[in-house]
Amino acid sequence: MSLVKLTLRELQERFTRGEVSAFEIVRAYYLRISLVEAKVKAYVTVNDKETVFAEAQALDKELKAWRKTLPLMAMPVAIKDNICTAGMRTTCGSRMLEGYVPPYDATVVQALRAQRCVIIGKTNLDEFAMGSSTEHSAFGPTRNPWKLSHVPGGSSGGSAAAVAADECVAALGSDTGGSIRQPAACCGVVGLKPTYGRVSRYGLVAFASSLDQIGPITKDVMDAAILLNILAGRDPRDSTSADVPVPDFTRAFKKKDVKKLKIGVPVEYFGEGLDAEVREAVQAALEVLEQLGGELQEVSLPHTNVAVATYYLLATAEASSNLARYDGVKYGLRSKHHQDLLEMYCRTRQEGFGPEVKRRIMLGTFALSRGYYEAYYAKAQAVRTLITQDFDTAFQSVDFLITPVMPTPAFRLGEKLDDPLQMYLADIYTLSASLAGIPAIAIPCGFSRQGLPIGIQFMGRPFEEETILRAARAYELATQWRQKRPPIREK
Ligand code: GLN
Repeated sequence: MSLVKLTLRELQERFTRGEVSAFEIVRAYYLRISLVEAKVKAYVTVNDKETVFAEAQALDKELKAWRKTLPLMAMPVAIKDNICTAGMRTTCGSRMLEGYVPPYDATVVQALRAQRCVIIGKTNLDEFAMGSSTEHSAFGPTRNPWKLSHVPGGSSGGSAAAVAADECVAALGSDTGGSIRQPAACCGVVGLKPTYGRVSRYGLVAFASSLDQIGPITKDVMDAAILLNILAGRDPRDSTSADVPVPDFTRAFKKKDVKKLKIGVPVEYFGEGLDAEVREAVQAALEVLEQLGGELQEVSLPHTNVAVATYYLLATAEASSNLARYDGVKYGLRSKHHQDLLEMYCRTRQEGFGPEVKRRIMLGTFALSRGYYEAYYAKAQAVRTLITQDFDTAFQSVDFLITPVMPTPAFRLGEKLDDPLQMYLADIYTLSASLAGIPAIAIPCGFSRQGLPIGIQFMGRPFEEETILRAARAYELATQWRQKRPPIREK
């Protein structure tokens, strides 16, 4: 089997046994990229081939001196382009940061480098991670490897497409309201949003700081756990990173069933607007989970219907404040057309930001302005607490929750581009977990008649990633979805 088809664990095993060298691994991936990337456009930047080849050869030489290999050694991983990489441009999919080369690595990137993993490239995203389709990128859209006429989801669409198209073995994404899980579902791969605070966000370009989390996008659930082992942990440079013990997440897989686990099925997630094929696929998955020993129980998350409004108030408010730093003074673009300072600010922001980012800044600024603050921002904060309490109550009677990830399979390019509200509704099932800060994983659970992947979401209690990993893995092993590959032809 071709090297690029292997999961991270399979590739790691071959490397550890000495059956394949770091050089052979990276060569296989660069070849694959040269054959499919022109169609998929998953990357904003592919790392310089000569540099990576030299790095891999050096690693192969050094290897003899190492007593044991590290879990991610020589693994080609792609990084969403809103995560800082020293010496490699980090654009956030925006003209504003088109030429921005960070002087430092994000903590997660540092952790990957310490493993001697290979940073193969930076993946495309909706500008500043605002979107659900990767169409709001200043560098053009990424395409869905399953059907090139369709979106890969977003905002980590480049990461999900790169994993699905075998252009990297695994990738990092960021999730503020669904941006890891939603593209994972669209592209038929696995996406894990860890608990808020589980993974350091130092070096992640801020969108909405009370929601942003970094997490893995991988070929299977095992790989997600392997990566989470490396990413998780307290970081003194991120005050919101939590000081909680980090288990070996792969130990969650000792049990290959969900016996004695209570599975909550929230009624609100199966109502109006849910596509029939998605509903069928998720319902069939629930039966599999029942056969694996789980006990299904209907639950209610009564504030689900206000999650979209709450999220889009809070996220835009935080974004309007976070994005104030792009004024042409310290970072990125500075407009050439100005006579004075004020005009420089205005022109820079006018030229640097795309329409969706401008819309969010305006919405957020409005929500925070005097006279409206109490009515909008403060109210949304209060509702956020109610949403969190819904989950607390549900988790008193069940161990995890099962829902769809997206109301429909991936949509066509351009289909929702002129209708922001329709685009926002693509996140209806992922926003609540972000607002509550709880962990959630999206994995494949079927295909539409058109051949597009369908995803299922497992949501767990805060810092109980192990429970959802165990359940998701048990389901994955009991089904065959992983075996199906995108039909994309090599050039
Ligand atoms: N699609 C959502 C938004 O547009 C979520 C994005 C994200 O999680 N970064 O805000």
